[in-house]
Amino acid sequence: MVSLPSDQDASGRTLGEAEIRLVAEAINSGTLTGTKGTFVKQLEQEFAQLLGVKYAYSCASGSAAVHVAIAAIDPEPGDEIVTTAITDMGALTPILYQGAIPVFADVDPRTWNVTAASIEQVLSDRTKAIIVTHLFGNPCEMTEIMALAQSRHIPVIEDCAQAFLATHNGQYVGAIGDIGCFSLQQGKHITTGEGGIVTTNDDALARRMFLFINKAWGYGDPQPDHYFLALNYRMSELQGAVAVAQLQKLPEIVQARRTTADQLTEQIQDLPGITPPWLDPRNTHSYWKYCLSVDSAVVPDGALGLAKRLKAEKGIFSAPRYIQKPAFQCEVFREQRTFGNSRFPFTLARPEAIDYSPEKYPGSFAGLEAVLVLPWNERYTIDHVNYIATSLGELLA
Ligand SMILES: *Cc1c(COP(=O)(O)O)cnc(C)c1O
Repeated sequence: MVSLPSDQDASGRTLGEAEIRLVAEAINSGTLTGTKGTFVKQLEQEFAQLLGVKYAYSCASGSAAVHVAIAAIDPEPGDEIVTTAITDMGALTPILYQGAIPVFADVDPRTWNVTAASIEQVLSDRTKAIIVTHLFGNPCEMTEIMALAQSRHIPVIEDCAQAFLATHNGQYVGAIGDIGCFSLQQGKHITTGEGGIVTTNDDALARRMFLFINKAWGYGDPQPDHYFLALNYRMSELQGAVAVAQLQKLPEIVQARRTTADQLTEQIQDLPGITPPWLDPRNTHSYWKYCLSVDSAVVPDGALGLAKRLKAEKGIFSAPRYIQKPAFQCEVFREQRTFGNSRFPFTLARPEAIDYSPEKYPGSFAGLEAVLVLPWNERYTIDHVNYIATSLGELLA
């Protein structure tokens, strides 16, 4: 058995001398707050430059990034934000914290992503924003989604937590919609343990995002005040220092993941019962994970069965069903457990907006049923790829 590198420890991460040197520099400077230091500012400038956007602001996490984005759009209580039920919970709870209602669009089971058509089905006159998640590193159909959103004057937030440097039509995700959100959590392409970044080209949204991260205190204004309800969502200089070093490596990290993912696709594309990641020819994938679609008519017990055999017979870990169930089946949504016993903001919702009948979500259920998530990272080599491909070949023979 071959042991695969893990993104939960040094075996699958790119942390090293550069990160150590810059963190030491931050500590020796004695300034650990990003408001006064240099690393957080450097990270923001370099990230904006890399993506080709006007503004990037760092924050405490990917969940914080999504919260910052929603707060910048400033929905009225009970306004609706269209999103997906196959995502990280940290992309959904900020909607409720801002008093808005998450409304779920179905996904294309081939990509596990929302589409313009599925979004259009759930738009209403209360839709205040659309959040698209580029799941697993594979971009959504942004051309069609932006055309729809612009025709209805609805801003689009791109959740790029899993999709650093993925592209659609040659444009980086996070630079296509109105706001981009990124995560620097342990298991993402680059990491500071916890951390986040938001991006935009819009001056007014940028101003509100900066303020929301900073307790809405008007730093540098002639008569600063706390202008509105906001939190301290700042990143520290310790994280900023690590992030500056990690960002240097990001293009190579994404390239390495693509190279090995393409090698795997090449080797397994003709195996019976599994389909490699489906890629729109306008997209490049950044392979946060490598997801197979498993056909349970061909593979005994489908994705679950294949995952069990991979683990037992080959020592290969995988995650069938990804998040197990669509987000609306989690307790927070089923029981509407929010603030005390108030059920706010669900109490303000249109009944159709919070009707989670399974018949409305055929793509989401079919997609979760079929998906087998293979962990992936930049430290995979051709030997790891060969082992996975050979193992799959033997199990599916
Ligand atoms: C990881 C992730 C988040 C949340 O990021 P945290 O840094 O863990 O708070 C949000 N959305 C998606 C799609 C993610 O993968």
